[in-house]
Amino acid sequence: MKTGISYFHTRDPRHVERDLDDIVEHGCNFIVHCYSETDMAFYNQAVEKIIRLSKDRGLEVYLDPWGLGGLYGGETFSKFVAENLAARQISVNGQSLPAACPNSPDFISFQAQWTQRAADLGADICFWDEPHYHFNFMDPSSWDNWACRCDVCRKLYKDEYNEDMPGELTSQVVQFRQQSLLRFLDKNCKDAKELGMRNCVCVLPDEGGEMMGQAAGTAAWEEIAGLSDIDIFGTDPYWALFGGDVDEYVRKHCSRVKQLCDKYEKEAQAWVLAFILPEDREEEVTQAIDVMVETGIRNIAAWGYLGCHLIDIKCARPELVWEILGKSFNKIKDR
Ligand SMILES: [Zn+2]
Repeated sequence: MKTGISYFHTRDPRHVERDLDDIVEHGCNFIVHCYSETDMAFYNQAVEKIIRLSKDRGLEVYLDPWGLGGLYGGETFSKFVAENLAARQISVNGQSLPAACPNSPDFISFQAQWTQRAADLGADICFWDEPHYHFNFMDPSSWDNWACRCDVCRKLYKDEYNEDMPGELTSQVVQFRQQSLLRFLDKNCKDAKELGMRNCVCVLPDEGGEMMGQAAGTAAWEEIAGLSDIDIFGTDPYWALFGGDVDEYVRKHCSRVKQLCDKYEKEAQAWVLAFILPEDREEEVTQAIDVMVETGIRNIAAWGYLGCHLIDIKCARPELVWEILGKSFNKIKDR
């Protein structure tokens, strides 16, 4: 069984060492390090050391392009979208959005730099974390303001369909958006493979756009799972965040992940919610892990270390969540 945790805390190796020992004691055998644009700009030597310290403890190392270009998940900011206005997604209302377009040649090139850096730093696996078009999850009224209608997208659309991109989200536009994201992911995965790394993708639990319509553009789970260079495919069914009963919500999404992974011969992964959990709901972590194991998932990770105790979206009782998670992981890790 693979058991992992995300880590985006301090960059000071003296403190990271202590956290890594704690992570191993809590039954983890892999770690997802967040390598953001801030790290790319200022912390490469520290991250290299952190990766080495992780491997010294037997942890497999995933590297996450956390918030890169605003195209991935992550509680961080993008310098790229502030400096490259022409590479930003444009919404149907004509707004320039704080997220890079997956068809932008400048962003594709920036992403390639990240992937090269990940290999240089010693990552085992690239963790493509919730790739999506821009949307504001907290504001459902914004979900209709879809992207991307930038000059590059409109030109590519015209070349492909021999007509102007319409102002409505027709099924053809939906298909074009999905194909654009798939092409972007596929290239990243090929780059990573050539550099000796493996690929893991985590998609939002919104297959078919059942939660947010087509806003995020990652509704096409099957096409993503079927990409030839993806090794591990999974989702993050964060029941308390997306509003579902732990058993029912986790089972539904994990069963689907397992089904697709069996079909395309991928390793199935699922993420456990270890942030924003309210008081008295800590045991739901154990319930979620049990359901994941029952559905056949053998790669389970939690977001994130110590109940995300440092950030505002921490669990109500982060230490308790971490303790419960550690007990569950230690119970299943050697299976
Ligand atoms: Zn675009």
